[in-house]
Amino acid sequence: MKAAVWYGKHDVRVENTEEPALVPGKVKVKVEWAGICGSDLHAYHGAGIQENEPHPVSGEMAPLTMGHEFAGVVTEVGEGVSNFSINDKVVIEPLIYCGKCEYCKRNHYNKCSSFGFVGLNANGGFAEYVVLEPKMLHKLPEQVSLEEGALVEPTAVALHAIRESKFKVGDKVAVFGVGPIGLLTIMAAKAAGATEIYAVDVSPERLVKAQEVGATYAINAIEENSVERIIALSDGGVDVAYEAAGAEITLANSLSAVKKGGEVMVISIIPEPVKVDVLQLTFKEASITSVLAYRNIFPEVISLIASGVLDVNRVVTKKISLDHIVEDGLELLGKDKSQAKILVNVQA
Ligand SMILES: [Zn+2]
Ligand SMILES: [Zn+2]
Repeated sequence: MKAAVWYGKHDVRVENTEEPALVPGKVKVKVEWAGICGSDLHAYHGAGIQENEPHPVSGEMAPLTMGHEFAGVVTEVGEGVSNFSINDKVVIEPLIYCGKCEYCKRNHYNKCSSFGFVGLNANGGFAEYVVLEPKMLHKLPEQVSLEEGALVEPTAVALHAIRESKFKVGDKVAVFGVGPIGLLTIMAAKAAGATEIYAVDVSPERLVKAQEVGATYAINAIEENSVERIIALSDGGVDVAYEAAGAEITLANSLSAVKKGGEVMVISIIPEPVKVDVLQLTFKEASITSVLAYRNIFPEVISLIASGVLDVNRVVTKKISLDHIVEDGLELLGKDKSQAKILVNVQA
């Protein structure tokens, strides 16, 4: 079968690999659509993939098939699996966890001591077939397409961030960085009842998209001072600022844009230590919190898409075939900041 395999930094190869064999207790899925994520870009640039030693739970290491945002159809069901049948449409919740540590026992499996991702710490969904444990699969209802299915995972990140933040109906929020996660956060905040949503980015195309999906104001941080603008328009600052850009400056601006008692919720991955103005934090009695992925939220995300509350298709800016994932996907996302979510048609 065809798969996009990570061999090393800037070395992802679309090649023929052996189709994984079904084993008892697992399910084989024919992958139809898969999204490219910011963490796939990090991996392409050499960070965050399982290298040199096998992952403690999956037992796998590079070379690894990438891809963790994907949906497809069940083609084979292993012995002992009763809750899935052939032809079920499914989305994959790609978290790897031990099931035994104190966090897993509390069902906070995204905090597992052996936490990992299918597609980064085990073979993933940029492949024609995957074999997975049924606990990773969620059925998609008829109204949800397989393309929308591939968008459930990033939407779960956004929804989890909204739910874990101090956000309340009627609040004003800011979203710094409107790539796919930022756009989905805007959608989720709007669905949750935000009255004013400030979108901040440096790409004019992304800012247009942000307004299309529900931002009240789109602020280009190259052209104007985003903090001054937010404070003026919101009459003193927002209740919650979601940091989805992953930079020191946007974290600082998030803190400056919240009102007293407000909250900065970090959704992005900020790989290097950064400076924080703790004096400002103290004088505002503000808080900085963060979320990692999501937990126990896929069914809600699927329902919100099925009912039409979240029109997640709107974050898609390009669709490509698996053969072109490197140049039209991983390479393009690195240089074309007008792109948001690129979906890969795995069977094309
Ligand atoms: Zn992702
Ligand atoms: Zn665990």
